[in-house]
Amino acid sequence: MKQTHLIGLTTAELSDFVASLGQPAYRARQIFAGIHGRRLRSFDEMTDLPKELRQQLANQATISSLRLESRYISSDGTRRYLFKTYDDYPVETVFIPEERRDTICFSSQSGCPLQCTFCLTAQLGLLRNLTAGEIVEQIIFALNDAYSVGVATPRGTNLVGMGAGEPFLNFDHLMKAIGIMNDAAGLHIVPNRITISTAGIVPSIRELAATPNRPHLAISLAAPNDKLRNDLMPINKKWPIQELLAACKEFEKSLRGNERFTFEYVMLRGVNDSDSHARELANLLNQHDLRAKVNLIPHNPAEPLPYQPSAPERVEAFREILESKGIHAFIRRPRGRDILAACGQLAARSASGEPPLSIDRSRGLRAG
Ligand code: SF4
Repeated sequence: MKQTHLIGLTTAELSDFVASLGQPAYRARQIFAGIHGRRLRSFDEMTDLPKELRQQLANQATISSLRLESRYISSDGTRRYLFKTYDDYPVETVFIPEERRDTICFSSQSGCPLQCTFCLTAQLGLLRNLTAGEIVEQIIFALNDAYSVGVATPRGTNLVGMGAGEPFLNFDHLMKAIGIMNDAAGLHIVPNRITISTAGIVPSIRELAATPNRPHLAISLAAPNDKLRNDLMPINKKWPIQELLAACKEFEKSLRGNERFTFEYVMLRGVNDSDSHARELANLLNQHDLRAKVNLIPHNPAEPLPYQPSAPERVEAFREILESKGIHAFIRRPRGRDILAACGQLAARSASGEPPLSIDRSRGLRAG
């Protein structure tokens, strides 16, 4: 991209940029507050800047770079977006409204290099890492779509890095984006409201543990033993379960107060959801004596994935076995199932040429 993408600049970088235009440092603070605090989408809207500066900015920089391709709104209020980057790679984001907070699930990569067999994104392969600006822009776009530009959000915003991509394979851009969003003059979404989900990149788990003011950690486990996990999540061949849990044990030292870390367990009918799998999982976590909870996630079936979701009674029985063995376990309510709002499902579906379920491009969106 020829123009500078201002959303991805820290305040210090923005000060340098503004200085290069011969402008005083306070202009950087105004621009940062305009982009991140008021979530403005164009320089014209920054009426506190002189007209000539707005023109200068429009010539050399851009606020947004993602282009909205499609938006889907589920009957439960969940909103799913498919964007394209300036160089035409898909990016997907999901906005989930809840009574006491909103949760935005963002992507860290376009596509994903990992080959989890229950995930549609895996079929895209890695297209490219997203920049910090492309990560932050997903959040700003979703908030503007839900509440309009410049309008304060009525509830807190939680973020989960569980969209397309393995966040830890784009660690630096991810951490930069988290730093930008933490700024009190901007979105002010503190790392304590952010959870990053990894398929199990062991060195990055250690790196995150040592990061000051870090986000929470979730680990996608999907199986209680190496044999099954190798099949479902081939990254397990590189970092098998015992190595992964040893890194988790180290990470545990960095947990604060009542914080626990989370194991995500996608429930695949007849594959990983039996009573004996539940007992094996409980024993595994108990062996390592981890301060953790388990989220059971009903699988979202989608062609051509070869899996079906476990029946609700099976998921409940699985949860009860975990609880009976002292493991806190929760069933994640499927949100936006009618619009396939699950990891990777939008981008992969679009790339495979299938028509979207319920496109709605008409409701006053400010795309790009
Ligand atoms: S589940 Fe996550 S880590 Fe695995 S292939 Fe899909 S996007 Fe990548």
